[in-house]
Amino acid sequence: MKMSVDQSELSEVAPVADRVLPDIRLYVIRCGELMIYPKSPQECSIPVQWYVLTHPLGNIVIDGGNAPEVARDPRKRWGPIVDVVWPTMKAEDACALQLRDLGIAPESVKWILQTHLHHDHTGAMADIGSFPNASVLARREEYDYARSPDWFYRPSYIEEDFNSPDIPWTFLGDDEDGFDLYGDGVVRVWKTYGHTPGHQSFEITLPQSGRTFLVTGDAVSDKDVWEKKSLPPMTVSNREAAASVEKLHNIARKTGATVIFSHDPVQWLEHSPLPAYYA
Ligand SMILES: [Zn+2]
Repeated sequence: MKMSVDQSELSEVAPVADRVLPDIRLYVIRCGELMIYPKSPQECSIPVQWYVLTHPLGNIVIDGGNAPEVARDPRKRWGPIVDVVWPTMKAEDACALQLRDLGIAPESVKWILQTHLHHDHTGAMADIGSFPNASVLARREEYDYARSPDWFYRPSYIEEDFNSPDIPWTFLGDDEDGFDLYGDGVVRVWKTYGHTPGHQSFEITLPQSGRTFLVTGDAVSDKDVWEKKSLPPMTVSNREAAASVEKLHNIARKTGATVIFSHDPVQWLEHSPLPAYYA
């Protein structure tokens, strides 16, 4: 009797060399700049960075810069914090518009990952109507603090950005660390508390190159923080902020990761200009 073999079964497992790696790209994007102490002689500008990761299971936005309304009237949207950090943002810097310019439909975004909920990181969720298929991932501790921050950090949280019934939240709890978003090792979520009570960072491994990146949010805002010459500019706990930098150093040592700072004007120049990306 002739044994028949289903050819489709044979083709399911291709030799490693013939396998096509998924098209996973990491874009480092800028939503204008912040002028620090805009009225002082020490004024300086820092980039507001956010990130896109393309993934076959659903595209991912990390943070998303500033809310679109910031381009029209910074003081109306952000209130008194503009006397400390003045945003230079154009209408076309808005997250959904920049995505479309890259040929990435906002409707294809499945996850908006939040490092934390400060005003210059909530630009995607503030425009949640443009992301009808996205859920927002943050830590429970961050959300709870953003809803009732200490008085001295109240100006850094903009209720209109994150306090909408339309935002479909997914919260990670304090006991969840190293969470693997898609179960394929591409995105891992690490607790990096200290800058804020529920800050998190993202370890991203790109299958094509095998390169790993650490998107550190404001846990490592610039090179001085990474080199342990200073702490992030704001902290709710100096000790936790320092421990988070150490934790990220350990991850970078193990993985050989390239560390991406959130607001470093010098490192920003090293990222390939759009539409280039890491893959
Ligand atoms: Zn921050």
